[in-house]
Amino acid sequence: MIVSKRKLLILGGGFGGVYTARHLETLLKRHHDAEVTLVSQYNYFLMTPLLFEAGSGVLEARHAVSPLRKLFSRVRFVQADVQEVDFEHRTVSAKPPGGNEVYLLDYTHLVIAVGGVTNTSIIPGADKVSTFKVLADAIFLRNHAIELFERADVENDPRTKQRLLAFVIAGGGLVGIELVGELTEFLKNLTRSYPRINDSDIHIDLIEGGPLLMKEMDRGLADYAQTILTQRGVRFHMNTRVQRIDQEHGYHIVRLPNGETLEAATVIAATGVKANPLLDKLSLEKDPKGRLLTEPTMLCKGRKDVWALGDCASIPDPQGKPYPQLAQHALREARVLADNIMASMKGRPLQPFIFETLGTMAALGHYKGIAKVKNIKIRGFVAWWIWRSYYLLQMPRWNRRIRIMADWTIALLFKNDIVELNVWDKDRATQLRPGATVERIESAIH
Ligand SMILES: Cc1cc2nc3c(=O)[nH]c(=O)nc-3n(C[C@H](O)[C@H](O)[C@H](O)COP(=O)(O)OP(=O)(O)OC[C@H]3O[C@@H](n4cnc5c(N)ncnc54)[C@H](O)[C@@H]3O)c2cc1C
Repeated sequence: MIVSKRKLLILGGGFGGVYTARHLETLLKRHHDAEVTLVSQYNYFLMTPLLFEAGSGVLEARHAVSPLRKLFSRVRFVQADVQEVDFEHRTVSAKPPGGNEVYLLDYTHLVIAVGGVTNTSIIPGADKVSTFKVLADAIFLRNHAIELFERADVENDPRTKQRLLAFVIAGGGLVGIELVGELTEFLKNLTRSYPRINDSDIHIDLIEGGPLLMKEMDRGLADYAQTILTQRGVRFHMNTRVQRIDQEHGYHIVRLPNGETLEAATVIAATGVKANPLLDKLSLEKDPKGRLLTEPTMLCKGRKDVWALGDCASIPDPQGKPYPQLAQHALREARVLADNIMASMKGRPLQPFIFETLGTMAALGHYKGIAKVKNIKIRGFVAWWIWRSYYLLQMPRWNRRIRIMADWTIALLFKNDIVELNVWDKDRATQLRPGATVERIESAIH
């Protein structure tokens, strides 16, 4: 029996944090002597697999997210950026976006689920290019592409036109490939509204440092993806490590090891995830990648009251290998972690997290996809349809699902909307992309 008021504090409103809060809410239904608080930077939950369609405008950007306050009945939500954790006094300090006040939140149990950030540090100069991780990235990409088409349509200088319509994606993992797939469809659709731009004017280059695309995907399916994207005109540079990305007259110059350079107005780093910078400040044990080392129960090493899950945690599987950084894992970790917090409060034994990947899916644009579910491999339209249906049902609340279905239906009937929502003046840009510098936004725009 729970004997005193417990404060369960969750940091991060992504897959790990939100689903832990939701499970705790259910488990604590009859325990009014415990309260759950969730702190996150944004007041919404982002369904990351839908970010690609938000970036092309198939989905209204707001429909790829769900408001956090509507997801809970008893969980308290605090919108704030976590600054520090004082493990001795069991307090967390956090600042609201745009405000200078500091909130001090205390806890009995702390759950850290702050995810990661795009690993731009592996390519010199990549901190000046775009990323594809948060909602603002998708909003930015759509408006930026439309702005480039407007400019290219009136441009007479062939070199400038070529630079405006060149798109370089660094990284051939799931995010890079799905992004390229969606771009091939989006950019091709855009050409229909711009009489002086043809399909052949658009250049998309994908650069992958290793020999394989989408390492976690079945090889046959990955090869299929590469074949159909090549047929759509994407140039793949395999085993190619970008040496450096420079800036010249407002364009990016991507330098490859063979001396080749790619000049493009748009470069997107899809170079994987690295540890959230917040973790550097925490005096907890970490793995070589900077993620929090946990026991199989998701308790942080050497702690009895601090837990971690999702992309910011290194949780060992039964063979001692960390689980991959995927939403499908974070969702399942959340359920076990919530059970373990309850067990810990009641003095019961904790359970290890054990999960075998169900499969991997990717959408490739143009109604095509790839999926491996258990041992069944699917490709083409059926895989794309399964992908869409699965993530539609993963989105919390029917309110959002209906809006998504309406967007998809409209996208089938009408061409892409080419209205550019030009909110990228200096002040708005820095507000929309916390952590981004004005310089970085400007270089991405020009
Ligand atoms: C474009 C894209 C597509 C993807 N597609 C798939 C897919 O199809 N299938 C799949 O399994 N996985 C996919 N992933 C990976 C998946 O999104 C992650 O593994 C998952 O989001 C991890 O969940 P998380 O809760 O650990 O982190 P996140 O979902 O990243 O959530 C972290 C949360 O913490 C908040 N936060 C961070 N720092 C602070 C701070 N200092 N203060 C307050 N709040 C903070 C963030 O705002 C965010 O809300 C995709 C990822 C991307 C980027």
